[in-house]
Amino acid sequence: MALPAVFCLRIFRLFVTSITAPARAAEIAVVAPLDKILNYAIPARLADEIGIGSRVRVPLGRRQVVGYVMNWAEPGDAKLKDILEVIDPHPLFHQKHAAFYLRAARYYVYPPGQAVRTALPAGLSALDSKPTVLSDKLYRATDRDEQPQGARQREILDYVRTKNECPLSQLRETFSAPHAALQRLVELKFLQFEEIERCRDPFAEIEVVEHCPVELNAAQQVAVTAVQAALDGPSTFAPFLLHGVTGSGKTEVYLRSIAKVLETGRQALVLVPEIALTPQLVTRFRSWFQNHGVRLAVLHSGLSDGERYDAWRQVARGDVDVVIGARSAVFAPLPELGLIVVDEEHDGSYKQSEGFRYNARDLALMRGQMEEAVVILGSATPVLTSYQRSLGGQLTRLELPERTAERPLPEVHLVDLSQHEGESQLSEPLQSAMAEALAAGEQALLLLNRRGYAPFLLCHDCGAALRCPNCDITLTYSQVQSSLRCHYCDFHMRPPESCDRCSGVRLLPEGMGTERLEEEIRELFPEARVARMDRDTTSRKGAHHRLIEQMSAREIDVLIGTQMIAKGHDFPAVTLVGVLNADTALNLPDFRSAERVFSLLSQVAGRAGRGDRPGRVMIQTYAVDNYALDFVARHDYQGFAALELSQRQVLAYPPFGYLVNLVLSGNDEARVNRAAEQISVNLTSGTSDAEVLGPAPCLLPRLRNKHRVQILLKAKEREPLRRQIEQLQRLRTQLPAGVVLTVDVDPVDMF
Ligand code: ADP
Ligand code: ZN
Repeated sequence: MALPAVFCLRIFRLFVTSITAPARAAEIAVVAPLDKILNYAIPARLADEIGIGSRVRVPLGRRQVVGYVMNWAEPGDAKLKDILEVIDPHPLFHQKHAAFYLRAARYYVYPPGQAVRTALPAGLSALDSKPTVLSDKLYRATDRDEQPQGARQREILDYVRTKNECPLSQLRETFSAPHAALQRLVELKFLQFEEIERCRDPFAEIEVVEHCPVELNAAQQVAVTAVQAALDGPSTFAPFLLHGVTGSGKTEVYLRSIAKVLETGRQALVLVPEIALTPQLVTRFRSWFQNHGVRLAVLHSGLSDGERYDAWRQVARGDVDVVIGARSAVFAPLPELGLIVVDEEHDGSYKQSEGFRYNARDLALMRGQMEEAVVILGSATPVLTSYQRSLGGQLTRLELPERTAERPLPEVHLVDLSQHEGESQLSEPLQSAMAEALAAGEQALLLLNRRGYAPFLLCHDCGAALRCPNCDITLTYSQVQSSLRCHYCDFHMRPPESCDRCSGVRLLPEGMGTERLEEEIRELFPEARVARMDRDTTSRKGAHHRLIEQMSAREIDVLIGTQMIAKGHDFPAVTLVGVLNADTALNLPDFRSAERVFSLLSQVAGRAGRGDRPGRVMIQTYAVDNYALDFVARHDYQGFAALELSQRQVLAYPPFGYLVNLVLSGNDEARVNRAAEQISVNLTSGTSDAEVLGPAPCLLPRLRNKHRVQILLKAKEREPLRRQIEQLQRLRTQLPAGVVLTVDVDPVDMF
């Protein structure tokens, strides 16, 4: 495809972007916990070098801080302080991006200056920023199941267990001086660690393969035509949901859409869950684009601050046609953005879980609307919010209901673990399926789900977990306190003697010795080449990439992994996928647990049978009659969505309601509780249309050495929540010293 128009437009843009229109004052987002934008005067000596998007040094109280120029302002009568310095020679973003960053900050109730800092490449918030190279240690829990003696060791260990693995840098932020306790935990073999080094560009050496053109099938053609039509003519906001089963050829639809937008002289932004986890996708894009002379920037965590800064400036100048990146790339300052693709839009990594808690999927839609771009959200298992929007017509749904080349979706079997207890972690049916696959020279993937592990009581007879009568989420089990507790509404009870569903008495805390699995497989299948893919084995530079290459080259027979192995991989020789423990995820204390399980299991199932031979999936569970698993087995997204949505509607959970999660934390437990009580009373008396749930202890009631309590705001409309948030901003100033309030709008994980 020839793209001559791109070049003419680029020359034009260079002129546009170099024009600055200095006024006498500017609106500055300062890097400080301030809700407001501040006005500063522009001294005459800086008038020529300042622009919207410039990083500047300004006085704030007695300090000097970094700020970003968001807009010009009228000085008015007020005596404004002067901007002291323009730090970089060029602006970092354009006016439309400033507007987008500010709207995002407002939406997520986050200080605008700090939001912009999060949006920009790291290292640009300090006055004398220099890229630094860091080394780190990655800790993870061993198989040892008991608890250590000391309270502090327990606390740190629990934290690491919940996270699965955790770098020292983060532990240092979380716990003051954790070294002694960590050392002890390692000596006692509760923890182990690995030195990790900063990654180099893992894609630098990727060879460019020839992209073989494929002929679109009918469904792909319909999708491409619809998107291309939206890209033709004047720019408009046109959001699509590309719902295509695993292996249905969504990537091809993205590529053709991107080609079209480039023809119109605009640029494309492609968001992927985690770059390091998707080298195959990046390779395909890179190959395809290089063959078409398209300039591509890949923003990934392996870049140094300096490299990232360079890439960012190229993007802002309009020297890049396509940006691929993870979550934070949604802020990339493409000057004429025409298309945003959010691949695997269901992926949890699009939500930032700390600080500026944005969701890149939702911001992609916000940005698309503001910049009049086409947005494609693609997934085999769209989040229910997106699906509901497509039913309501806010997103245009495009369906790819079948795999390409007439390949069937895999057969899915549920293995009832209550029939196979004491057989090792691999039930007999899964073992024999593996034996068959290995004998046939095929590959197997085994999924061990350890995500956000929270203890709960599981009935080993009927597979039910104990749930909150008010919130329909699992009750979190504490052995020490001998209690079951809801961390939304604080309902609690003593653990019952028997299951109220089937009267069985085998109510047992759930959890399994996962790290032993690899060993077990080596014992069972001594001939097989076994590898493990999780954060431990992939923290080293390029390790993940190597595992994928080895899988593709069929140098590995059995790959064990965490959620990572479910992500978009295309290994044609994989015919068997096994899921070791479906229940841990089913029973997370979260109203989205069924959705997550459906999504994860459908995705991992989607790795089977992508080549010439059909695939098979074995899911081990105690809950064989669980509806989510049933729909997975039948590949019935629509059925699952219909049922789950009807349940959400009853309880007014998203997408039929909106949530804001407030977390109060501080060293002094009594103060935190009092503040939470006060806020909840204030919010309850304020409006009538929003529910105030809690205060209740967070799922992690102590974190970073701080006591944590949460209040969940829930409403059918956004408006009452917005009023409550405004009220909250006033209440925030009255918080007792040492108590911090965190606001999470549209929370995803409520830990
Ligand atoms: P998805 O992202 O929907 O899971 P992919 O985009 O990875 O699926 O496509 C799956 C496989 O099908 C890839 O190997 C791709 O090259 C191939 N493919 C895509 N479109 C076609 C087509 N129209 N005909 C044949 N093969 C196709
Ligand atoms: Zn509850």
